[in-house]
Amino acid sequence: MSSGSCLCGAIRWSLASDPKRMTHCHCRMCRKAHGATFATFLIGDLQGFRFEQGEADIVAYESSPDFIRPFCVHCGSVVPHRASDRVRIPAGAMDDDPHILPSAHIYVKWKAPWHAIDDDLPQHDHFPGHSSPRVEDPALSPSTPGVLRGRCLCQAAAYEVKGPLQRLYHCHCSRCRKAKGAAHATNAFAAIDDVRYLRGESSLRTYRLPGARTFSHVFCPTCGSSMPRLDPTRSLAVIPMGSLDDDPERTIDSHIFVASKAPWYEIDDDLPRHDAGPGPS
Ligand SMILES: [Zn+2]
Ligand SMILES: [Zn+2]
Ligand SMILES: [Zn+2]
Repeated sequence: MSSGSCLCGAIRWSLASDPKRMTHCHCRMCRKAHGATFATFLIGDLQGFRFEQGEADIVAYESSPDFIRPFCVHCGSVVPHRASDRVRIPAGAMDDDPHILPSAHIYVKWKAPWHAIDDDLPQHDHFPGHSSPRVEDPALSPSTPGVLRGRCLCQAAAYEVKGPLQRLYHCHCSRCRKAKGAAHATNAFAAIDDVRYLRGESSLRTYRLPGARTFSHVFCPTCGSSMPRLDPTRSLAVIPMGSLDDDPERTIDSHIFVASKAPWYEIDDDLPRHDAGPGPS
């Protein structure tokens, strides 16, 4: 028996039987929907899965025919999807250890350019057993040097960054894992004046975590994608790397809040690791 919930706690679920499989998905749609470097899903039997509360608070976005990406209307967390005979659960939103480890990477051909896969798991360019990849082409014009562009999955919101990404972190804290429904968040920090929304900013929703000093989750109300948060009090913008369309041509600085990391995720790279934050800020 294991259970999970979204960031705000409105949606809760339980899984009575052991999950069958855990997979890291690197496709562009997962990266955008989760705002993360990659998504990790648990696949379980439909019998044994149930929503304990909040099912009416789920928004279902159809990112491609027959592929539904559900999220919480309040906080934007990715939540489980029930297909015909199985359930797909974002592993990052589990509240306890599901006692299974990832078995493969899928859609690695579309992986984030700043990410190297350093473990020994099998890598596939598709989803084994499925014929056609569910991956859209970004169809963007060539990038302008010094400008990074980003969009949500439904493309209602778009932004650009004209200036350097100052700090880039993989964050393993439990809030980030729930907000993204992923193994960890990957966030870039930039000067607030360097980040500009091109469209859709007024429609974005912000969930502020009660009691948190600065943590909030900005997301598209249509597709649930995480989007940049502009924080005037700190004069900075926090950019979920999964929303980027252009290659920042930069690697990540470090892993932070590693002490809170998911029990099923092993860090296999050589980046610096910090148990808590990156230091006094
Ligand atoms: Zn929620
Ligand atoms: Zn995917
Ligand atoms: Zn959207």
